[in-house]
Amino acid sequence: MKGIGKYWGYLAFILLIMGWWTRAMGPTALIVVSVLVALYFLFQAPVWCAAINRDGTLCRNNSSGLLLGCSMRQHKFQKLKMTFVRHGWRRMNRGLWASPRECLTTIGAVVAIFSTLAGTVMQMLGMK
Ligand SMILES: [Zn+2]
Repeated sequence: MKGIGKYWGYLAFILLIMGWWTRAMGPTALIVVSVLVALYFLFQAPVWCAAINRDGTLCRNNSSGLLLGCSMRQHKFQKLKMTFVRHGWRRMNRGLWASPRECLTTIGAVVAIFSTLAGTVMQMLGMK
């Protein structure tokens, strides 16, 4: 069961897609699951660190989530910082598509964020 703890976000992601697909969940449930999935992909999913080393290569250490780096101090917040500086996204973008796993994580995060917004709009409009 220990392995599942690390990958619960993927299960939640599948649940989220099913929720939209089948319309079985109300907007509130969709928002809750979307936020959990977004947080998982941004801060907990197993991915490469992908911070940029001094020589311009990407760090291949394991890390948690798209926005946090590995345990090297310089890397830890490099990506988080990059999201706030000009041209940072372009540099960070390389790490987001480094391998199929990173692609999946990136797409998952984007879908979850849109899903959160869509759920919020639905709730504001009082749609079921
Ligand atoms: Zn690193």
